[in-house]
Amino acid sequence: MVDLQSQYIKIKDQVDKNIIAVLESSAYINGPEVQQFQKELENYLGVKHVIPCANGTDALQIAMMGLNLKPGDEVITADFTFAATVEVIALLQLTPVLVDVKKDTFNMDIEALKKAITTKTKAIVPVHLFGQCANMEAVLKVAKKHNLYVIEDNAQAIGADYIFSDGTKKKAGTIGIVGTTSFFPSKNLGCYGDGGAIFTNDDELAHTLRGIVNHGMYKRYYHDVVGVNSRLDSIQAAILRIKLRELDNYCNTRQKAAAYYSTAFSTNKNIITPATSLFTTHVFHQYTLQITNGKRNELHQHLLDNGIPNAIYYPVPLHSQKAYVDDRYNEADFKVTNELIDTVISLPMHTELDKEQQDFIINTILNFVTN
Ligand SMILES: *Cc1c(COP(=O)(O)O)cnc(C)c1O
Repeated sequence: MVDLQSQYIKIKDQVDKNIIAVLESSAYINGPEVQQFQKELENYLGVKHVIPCANGTDALQIAMMGLNLKPGDEVITADFTFAATVEVIALLQLTPVLVDVKKDTFNMDIEALKKAITTKTKAIVPVHLFGQCANMEAVLKVAKKHNLYVIEDNAQAIGADYIFSDGTKKKAGTIGIVGTTSFFPSKNLGCYGDGGAIFTNDDELAHTLRGIVNHGMYKRYYHDVVGVNSRLDSIQAAILRIKLRELDNYCNTRQKAAAYYSTAFSTNKNIITPATSLFTTHVFHQYTLQITNGKRNELHQHLLDNGIPNAIYYPVPLHSQKAYVDDRYNEADFKVTNELIDTVISLPMHTELDKEQQDFIINTILNFVTN
């Protein structure tokens, strides 16, 4: 699905040099590399505060802790996403409320969001799934009307631009009160281990979050709030500094590969190619087709038989996962997610794909999914 080794080879000299410098400095935790990376990411995103942490799941949890959400508060998020989003809501004893997504973009359905709001709703977590932003202008409008926090799960869309109706742009993850991301190796900005970060323009929240990631300490050995231990280490930061400089190139390369796939599949009536909303750029964390002839599972196996990696993101809707089933849910409210789990298939998508590989993948698919 990804080719991290070929990507590494291209930046190997710089990466190896930076890693060795960290080893020699012995500033393994919170060293200058972490501070530098934080500043560089703030600049790239155009956001006032980046708070690095240990992974993208922690980032979501810490963001919710920082907003002081209380057990029983309802938090609305999308039914079609990676489990981390709903996991931290449940872990904090908040009440997850899952809503359906749009069939064309896989992102939160705003009508479903509106329907799910109750007097207990405190926050909305839009997920920028597969590399493009949810409809943030609509989310912000709903949030404003009901006085709700907006926490963007931006683990999959770092580098994407959100385009407001007046033409102004903001980077994905910097639009709500707080945004989070993951530097898991296969993410668009991935390190060589685990890592994550939280973004906010709110000075007070940033201060709170910096304490929470560090055991609730604002002054050494004085613990004002219950915190966690969640750090990005210096070696990962040193790697991320190099990869951040490449991020726009990486996004471009992914976009070109996606366009090449989409052109090839465009005339097949059993294949729906990924749609991009006008209000966002798409950085293609995943390139995900919908196979509408009922043969998705057969295609999945056929590709594996031909040595082509592919994946079903996601095979089970969150509302049907054992850990998150809830009597309040009504199957009729999850029509789209229930359909997508049977039709979606994600193809290899990364910065090192070449035309020859893509042609092989395309031909194998078109010979199997005939018109
Ligand atoms: C990867 C991912 C996360 C979690 O990130 P980790 O660094 O693996 O903890 C959260 N949300 C979404 C949508 C993700 O894709």
